[in-house]
Amino acid sequence: MTVRVAIAGSSGSIGTQTLDVIRAERDAYEVVGLGVGTSVEALIDQAHEFRPAVVAVADPEHRARAAAALPFAEVVGELPALVEGADVVVNAVVGFAGLPVTVEALRRGRRLALANKESLIAAGPVVQPLRATPGAEIVPVDSEHCAVHQCLRASADPDREVARIVLTASGGPFRGRDAASLADVDVAAALEHPTWRMGPKITIDSSTLMNKGLEVIEAHELFGTPFERIEVVVHPQSVVHSMVEFSDGCTMAQLSLPDMRLPIGYALAHPRRISTPFGRIDWGSLGRLDFEPPDTATFRCLSLAYDAGRAGGTAPAWLSAANEVAVDAFLAGGLRWPQIAEVCDEVLQAHEPGADATVDDIVAADGHARRVARSAVLRRQTVRGREAVTG
Ligand code: MG
Repeated sequence: MTVRVAIAGSSGSIGTQTLDVIRAERDAYEVVGLGVGTSVEALIDQAHEFRPAVVAVADPEHRARAAAALPFAEVVGELPALVEGADVVVNAVVGFAGLPVTVEALRRGRRLALANKESLIAAGPVVQPLRATPGAEIVPVDSEHCAVHQCLRASADPDREVARIVLTASGGPFRGRDAASLADVDVAAALEHPTWRMGPKITIDSSTLMNKGLEVIEAHELFGTPFERIEVVVHPQSVVHSMVEFSDGCTMAQLSLPDMRLPIGYALAHPRRISTPFGRIDWGSLGRLDFEPPDTATFRCLSLAYDAGRAGGTAPAWLSAANEVAVDAFLAGGLRWPQIAEVCDEVLQAHEPGADATVDDIVAADGHARRVARSAVLRRQTVRGREAVTG
């Protein structure tokens, strides 16, 4: 029996690498659904190769193009419709827009292979109860959380036996730099990730360490570990993907080369393993593994995420929304790199606790935070424009 897989966000980095894994494991997996926002030409190519029964295109104009090109598939507009015929749903949508797929997959009792960390971080209070749905299960497609997931299998009673989770961070392209030298770094420099090949949003998040901060919240939500027992260590080689220390002082770590096809394959096959090796280590040439504490004075986003996580409720939703707005503005050339942290800090300071029990509550919180963030961005752009005129 093949496992039926649907991929929301199939044109992006995780989506295309999921198809690489399935291409290598054709006997075990069948693609039954593919979904994109606007990248319809990529979707059409993928659909011709994998012949899914359903394709979803969020953008209505692009949807008509898909319908004309793919007569064998049902073409729909809502990405959550992909859940219906699937055993495993890969959520590889970027940002808060991934929330409906996360909710639908869990509500329908499917395995959710979760690459869209923002939905879990922003909507923890809504997502957590859905995990109790019979059949529902989250297997993280995030290298650190995949590592923790594997390490936890070494404990019969993780609630009692986990002393701490240690998330590793590559440190991103600006590791070792001080704040003064980062005042005017450009987009191209921030997109130069030393070890991972990823989409632009997460690559910028890696440069600010916001990605690691969001991953601290993600680990708390996934594994129930209190924040004081989740630590971050910088490990520039990205070979140790994270570690779990247990009550007896033993530390388990998961090692592999930085290749997202490994966590993707793990999430598809769990509790078994796929047979295709991705990211095999050559121990003779590996040489050394380095570890150092994160520089939280320069990379302030990491501390902001701990603050938001500890505050709980809608605070993580506010932080994640502020970060999306700030990163978009930075990528568009409308914000300086240090201002990403400034905007996130300002929005978090302005956070007004509100209802968090329903998807609508979380969507409202996200919208509120985005308005505050846009005005914080706009104010900095106005100042910058005035400086350009007078300077
Ligand atoms: Mg990660």
